Amino acid sequence: MSFRRESHCVAPPRRKLLNCVAALPAPERLRINEIFYSIQGESTFAGRPCVLVRLTGCQMRCTWCDTEYSFYEGAWMRVDDVIERVLSYDCPLAEVTGGEPLLQPGVHTLMSGLCDRGLEVLLETGGGLDISGVDPRVRRIVDLKCPGSGEAANNHWPNLLDLRATDEVKLVVQDRDDYEWARQAIREHRIDRRCAVHLSPVWDALEPAELASWVLEDRLPARVSLQLHKTLWGAEKRGV
Ligand code: SF4
Repeated sequence: MSFRRESHCVAPPRRKLLNCVAALPAPERLRINEIFYSIQGESTFAGRPCVLVRLTGCQMRCTWCDTEYSFYEGAWMRVDDVIERVLSYDCPLAEVTGGEPLLQPGVHTLMSGLCDRGLEVLLETGGGLDISGVDPRVRRIVDLKCPGSGEAANNHWPNLLDLRATDEVKLVVQDRDDYEWARQAIREHRIDRRCAVHLSPVWDALEPAELASWVLEDRLPARVSLQLHKTLWGAEKRGV
């Protein structure tokens, strides 16, 4: 059976409605960049059908960011309407991503609402903000930014102490210097004893096989993770 991918970017509502939603209390609204149904690409959930909700805005500017369109583009939606849209796909797995989803207070209403309705919920965060207030039912996928990103100084290091076995840490590696930094961080903070650790090569900057050979050579307790959605549909495609 062939799998048909479906992508529905959020169409901007009429100006009057937009202003009305933007005026709601912060926990009841979200600025949404896109909502789409695809294959989860970068975690232990990679390969599973998933509804992805991408929120607008990010306080970081990673050199290799592949979602710069999420920095400013988006439309206001009621959290309840976002939940209804996610449920309409009839998919048991949902991921909230960005941008940086933790910038918007309404993200907590969204994640808890999806959990209440029985969905497995993933949160993908850049790792620069405190994750401790996230609903414990949510599986947190937390970036630890390597120096090549230009954002290593903005990692929120206390997050590592808050990790649960159901969480995951991802380090995006651009070159050998990044790898050695990541290796040091994993060993020093024993991240692998807390949860799954992913090393992901920057697309078109580091050969996955080279990263894999370093991991094997060092017997590093980490997974080499590729961006499955880019392999499936290409690096430039949005809404996948
Ligand atoms: S944290 Fe994510 S969305 Fe923000 S700049 Fe970095 S890669 Fe892009």
